[in-house]
Amino acid sequence: MKFELNTLPRDSSDAEIIAEIRRVASVVGKKFLTTTDFDLHSKIHSSTIRRRFGGWQQVLDKAGIGEKYSGVKISDKMRSQQAKNLTDDEILNELKRIAKELNRDYITQEDVNNNSEIMAASAVVYRFGTWLKGLEKAGLKKSTQYRIKFSEDELFENILNVWTHHGRQPFYSEMEKAPSTISPGTYEYRFGSWRKALEAFVEKMNQEDSNEKVIENKPIIQEKNEAKREKTINNNIKSGEIRSINLSLRYKVLSRDNFRCVRCGRSPATNPGVELHIDHKQPFSKQGKTTMENLETKCKECNLGKSNRHIE
Ligand SMILES: [Zn+2]
Repeated sequence: MKFELNTLPRDSSDAEIIAEIRRVASVVGKKFLTTTDFDLHSKIHSSTIRRRFGGWQQVLDKAGIGEKYSGVKISDKMRSQQAKNLTDDEILNELKRIAKELNRDYITQEDVNNNSEIMAASAVVYRFGTWLKGLEKAGLKKSTQYRIKFSEDELFENILNVWTHHGRQPFYSEMEKAPSTISPGTYEYRFGSWRKALEAFVEKMNQEDSNEKVIENKPIIQEKNEAKREKTINNNIKSGEIRSINLSLRYKVLSRDNFRCVRCGRSPATNPGVELHIDHKQPFSKQGKTTMENLETKCKECNLGKSNRHIE
């Protein structure tokens, strides 16, 4: 008699896993294929393949048996609406249930969005103030995803982009949406809270501009795929004599100009799509200095049109 392991390894190919899902579906033979029934017969745990494909609904879709999904197919928005009727305990119990089902002591917002049929992750933020507070109340840990390393410059650069976009200090919830490219949880993980991240940002912005790392002058609002930046370190040159404008100086110029174009008055906050640049009044090529006095905020259009439309 030949013994075989009754499990599929975690690193099985998608094709092997899909074959297994179909096999189990026919063994179970019911109208719907639930994770409970699946795990009774399968050689691989539902949580493993759920992680791989993004959710149970996606697993069944992938196997071509999407009609066997028993959950209600609803959007995040509908789930957010629904969550308003849930008690705090119901929300926390849902977090615990998902963690248990995934067999982990931490969960991500994506896990909630993929596995909950009664609420979206935003419901947790809405109810408890921050995602991490919700996790804490549910007795769960922070996800390892927040341990992804961003440099301090990248974290602050992202805050400045969002700050410029709204023309004011951004709220926690705004860090979850474009143009932010770093989650608020990352800031909480690094600084302890969103408030403390803002304090660190402002402290950095208040520093003098001498001999700091500088970032190339570029549009304030960036596309995601433009996120890679060239950075140079100028240790031997006075800041006024280098062309690039460091983060702190950009913040100061933008704040002084109220996050608006000094020519036409438009801002990203009031005119979506407006892109702000920091421009040298006296061009750098003509001995203009990189200083507060010689810098101003302009929208892309006014900046590009300066050679003919704004002759002084
Ligand atoms: Zn303008």
